[in-house]
Amino acid sequence: MRIVVLAGGIGGARFLRGLKAAVADDAGDADITVIGNTGDDIHLFGLKVCPDLDTVMYTLGGGIHEEQGWGRAGETFAVKTELAAYGVGPEWFGLGDRDFATHIVRTQMLGAGYPLSAVTEALCARWQPGVRLIPMTDDRVETHVVVDTPEDGRKAVHFQEYWVRMHASVPARAILPVGAEQSKPAPGVLEAIAEADVILFPPSNPVVSIGTILAVPGIREAIAEAGVPVVGLSPIVGDAPVRGMADKVLAAVGVESTAAAVAEHYGSGLLDGWLVDTVDAGATEAVEAAGIRCRAVPLMMTDVDAAARMAREALRLAEEVRGQARA
Ligand code: GDP
Ligand code: CA
Repeated sequence: MRIVVLAGGIGGARFLRGLKAAVADDAGDADITVIGNTGDDIHLFGLKVCPDLDTVMYTLGGGIHEEQGWGRAGETFAVKTELAAYGVGPEWFGLGDRDFATHIVRTQMLGAGYPLSAVTEALCARWQPGVRLIPMTDDRVETHVVVDTPEDGRKAVHFQEYWVRMHASVPARAILPVGAEQSKPAPGVLEAIAEADVILFPPSNPVVSIGTILAVPGIREAIAEAGVPVVGLSPIVGDAPVRGMADKVLAAVGVESTAAAVAEHYGSGLLDGWLVDTVDAGATEAVEAAGIRCRAVPLMMTDVDAAARMAREALRLAEEVRGQARA
């Protein structure tokens, strides 16, 4: 079975780890292609940093800082300290020494002319994530967030500045995936979608992770027309994000922070099935009324087994809607 997953960072990576465990136990020969968000990418200290690709790569490759959910395990911060001693920032973005090496290799290869997709493949040769990880695009796309500031009035800041430096503490007025309109899907992206047996949206951020991937022209259309089940899992549990500030970017696109509203935001043109947490069982009716098959199951990724159970439920729902479509 060929499974395609659209993924952001932590929510995507933890789900993927469960999915890998689930298919290893059950099906045997499933192959998983991950289309990763690159809208969070940022240039720091002359280096190209791809936080979401790296979170997926480190998590599946066994190098992640487990509690934090991003960055390397056993990290040290000598380079960051030295940079600060020179007064060189930003100091709000935590790059550790081990992590720096990844960004150095990536930047060096990009400088030599390799596209990001080839660089990602090379980095994965070390980490062996057990999935094929492809960036959504080889082109530069950068998510910017429009905010109102007391000093400068209304302005757009890089997503990382909004998320990491400002902790999304002010309302987001708009989310702009800068460069998306001109971007092309990376090699292999549309092919993987066309050849997929099932397409999954993990509980990643619907706006700045999955929304950004869908903003690359051709990807949304390819998924809608793939003719295979598309099943998503809600990142919103009990009317709040499980982790992070997704409510802030959902508000910016006029979507309530509820499991049902997120399903309706994706819409029945894209989604065939949607999983909500058991605490949101009351939402299933509204989701089904919107034309999306919905089930309530536990959606907290407390460990790999819990994430694997979620993945099995998603695959089960996919088979259920596949049967329906054919009947
Ligand atoms: P990011 O790029 O690191 O922000 O990661 P993603 O976009 O992939 O995922 C972020 C989303 O994951 C957040 O909106 C969280 O609500 C969601 N999330 C994190 N952990 C869990 C979990 O255990 N269960 C569910 N349902 N969602 C989760
Ligand atoms: Ca991200």
